[in-house]
Amino acid sequence: MDERARVERVDAVVVGSGFGGSVAAYRMAEAGRTTVLLERGRPYPPGSFARNPHEMGRAFWEPKDELFGLFDVKSFRKLEAIVSSGLGGGSLIYANVLLRKDERWFVQDSPLPGGGYEHWPIGRADLEPHYDAVERMLTPTPSPYPDLPKAKALREAAEALGLEVSHPPLAVSFAPTPDGKPGMKQVIPPPDYGNLHRATRLTCRLCGECDIGCNEGAKNTLDHTYLSAAAHHGADLRPNCEVAGITPLRGGGYAVTYVEYGDPLQDGGPRTRRPRKIHTDRLFLAAGALGTTTLLLRNRLNLPGLSRALGTRFCGNGDLLTFAMGARTDTASGAMRLIDGSQGPVITTTVRVPDALDGDPRGERGYYVQEAGFPEFANWLIETTQVTSSMQRAATVAREILLHRWRGHNESTVSAEVARLVGQGRLGSSSLPLLGMGRDIADGRVILTDGEIDVDWSTSTSMRYFSAVRETMRALSSQLNAEFHDNPLWWTRRVVTVHPLGGAPMGRSPYDGLVDAHGEVFGHPGLFVVDGAAMPGPVGPNPALTIAANADRIVERVLQGPSGGPRASDTDEDAAGPAPAGLLDGDSVEFTEQMKGFLALGETDPMTGYSRARLLNHRFSFELTITVPDVERFLADEDHPGTAAGAVRCELLGGRLPVERGWFNLFVGTAEVATREMCYRLWFRDLAGAPATLYGFKTVRNDPGFDLWRDTSTLYVTLLKGHVPPGGEGDVLGAGMLRILPRDFARQLTTFRADGRSPVRSLRQFGTHFARTLLDTYGPVRKEDR
Ligand SMILES: Cc1cc2nc3c(=O)[nH]c(=O)nc-3n(C[C@H](O)[C@H](O)[C@H](O)COP(=O)(O)OP(=O)(O)OC[C@H]3O[C@@H](n4cnc5c(N)ncnc54)[C@H](O)[C@@H]3O)c2cc1C
Ligand code: SF4
Repeated sequence: MDERARVERVDAVVVGSGFGGSVAAYRMAEAGRTTVLLERGRPYPPGSFARNPHEMGRAFWEPKDELFGLFDVKSFRKLEAIVSSGLGGGSLIYANVLLRKDERWFVQDSPLPGGGYEHWPIGRADLEPHYDAVERMLTPTPSPYPDLPKAKALREAAEALGLEVSHPPLAVSFAPTPDGKPGMKQVIPPPDYGNLHRATRLTCRLCGECDIGCNEGAKNTLDHTYLSAAAHHGADLRPNCEVAGITPLRGGGYAVTYVEYGDPLQDGGPRTRRPRKIHTDRLFLAAGALGTTTLLLRNRLNLPGLSRALGTRFCGNGDLLTFAMGARTDTASGAMRLIDGSQGPVITTTVRVPDALDGDPRGERGYYVQEAGFPEFANWLIETTQVTSSMQRAATVAREILLHRWRGHNESTVSAEVARLVGQGRLGSSSLPLLGMGRDIADGRVILTDGEIDVDWSTSTSMRYFSAVRETMRALSSQLNAEFHDNPLWWTRRVVTVHPLGGAPMGRSPYDGLVDAHGEVFGHPGLFVVDGAAMPGPVGPNPALTIAANADRIVERVLQGPSGGPRASDTDEDAAGPAPAGLLDGDSVEFTEQMKGFLALGETDPMTGYSRARLLNHRFSFELTITVPDVERFLADEDHPGTAAGAVRCELLGGRLPVERGWFNLFVGTAEVATREMCYRLWFRDLAGAPATLYGFKTVRNDPGFDLWRDTSTLYVTLLKGHVPPGGEGDVLGAGMLRILPRDFARQLTTFRADGRSPVRSLRQFGTHFARTLLDTYGPVRKEDR
């Protein structure tokens, strides 16, 4: 059966089931489009969320350690990030707050430190109808219990300071129906579209466990709402499916490759991993800010011409976690004030501090401060300030994170380490974690190092913003007669974010955005980014509602477009290369060669590519073992062929990438008089498995001046799409130049080895051929000839 007949093809594939993905899948399915949603995590029906220490210890996402749980904890240079992995994405562990982005905070052309601008190509008016649509589905409502001790404590403290305070809309069912009477543990009747879990949901019982998954089913999470509605309209939801590769198809559309994780074995053994492929006309990326950016970075070879904005405009939405510890009713009596952070939904109250854009005379960036009830995921951080054993566990984790960094490892997922740390701590009943977020500075950059993502972002440029947030939190603590505590990570100027944003930002053009104002990737029709990655800056308040509304807006426009759209009609198979040449059995010679330089994607001229890549610090190098398998034949054949094995290194493409097949030709004659070339052709794959060919040549010709060293040490390289066989041509993906440094050349001379019946003779023959060709080219005889 041919490839086209075998590969499944649909109208829409959605990657990820968070706020962007669920909305996109629902809208496409509701409009009658065949839709497949691929989600790496598993479904979590009510009652299935981890609670005891053993379950909590396995509730992390790190498949290489056989962890397939809910929390994905990432550690970067100056930032930790917590995201979710499960059917429903971040909604499974979020705190239910649905706020709209402040109208004046959609900035335009706002300069960023280090260059560039934060620019929102959309405004609040563009999102307004879509905010309405999302709210109709998620039915947020303020907590009907405004006088819970923690809600009252924060409200009173804020009011005493003259701050704007309110009880924000929460996507929680406090009553069986949106306009019904609140009551705890009442059965919620299923909506018309049913419920994909087919499990009973109960109204909120105020247990404060929203951030570790609601076992009652009281949260109006995406699985109970959008995803159930999408399934009702025929969407095929596929949990346990992690997407790895994206390839454009020649006839339009995209091939998506993914791994399907099998069911866990009874004995806890490794889960199976089945490779899968699907073709789609439209591809909606919604793997979260970090997930989508990783996918695009790893697939940039497959997606030529991606804007240089890829990876930019990253920020953690200004998240800052601090603690008001040991509140007292008044300082004189010293009596403890009951705050009971574990009663109620995790967040019930929000303080809003205005921005200079709102006309605030302080002239600062605006922010929100909310209480973060518990038990909640960051509980272990709080414990570290109080409990010795937790302190030791936290110290161990901190040490491991720092060691990873110090050794230069870029293993960004530290879920396994954190899994060991989580304990059963309880906060005192008079303490309150405070969560700040706001209009941070989006000057972070997501990059690939050794195939893993890293985030180049630090608190330094945002320090003024963070200082202002801390001052407000300190003042609130003081109003509560509580001690203000930073979280321990702040001591090293690191922050924990639960709101990572950016990496594939919207923009006006490819110069300032990866996607246009309608979420479509510049240069790649039919490929959309519909999640937090598309945000070109901080949202300010909790971002989920804005992400969902933006997805609704993007898909609405897709649906208004031509209904047919391009069809995925071609195969994405590589052109088959020639069969590997068998080694000959004569005397062989080999040596190792290392060349380093710069290569820019999107360039076709090696010199231009080199200059640009140098500016951007886009390095490229290889280390190869060149083998001449049969010296006699090598000398007799005018192409003087050898093989090349080893690896290339290119951070843009995923770090160290093994060469699958390599050709080498020493001093091949060319059409030009007295000019020879040394040629290299290397087949390899980028991290996402996309095939590529590096073709390089050194020109050996006697030009005026002493150019022997320059000629023999300079390799002009072109990166081609696919595995292009010798003599073949391919689409050019990039170009640049590599050099051998004198030090590396000296080392190369020590690597010459020969094997066979008379190795010394072979070495001499090879060396003589090398020297004679150079002498012919550059020596006096050749010059006289001319
Ligand atoms: C503890 C906590 C509390 C929060 N509270 C709030 C709040 O109260 N209000 C608010 O607005 N926001 C809150 N947030 C933030 C909110 O959850 C996120 O902003 C939101 O979920 C982001 O939506 P998204 O669509 O961009 O991505 P996500 O919701 O993160 O969804 C991405 C999905 O893609 C999946 N995925 C990733 N890679 C792949 C892949 N390669 N293949 C297949 N699937 C993949 C992931 O498993 C995940 O399910 C909170 C977050 C946390 C962690
Ligand atoms: S407080 Fe408890 S019951 Fe209510 S939404 Fe949160 S986790 Fe569910």
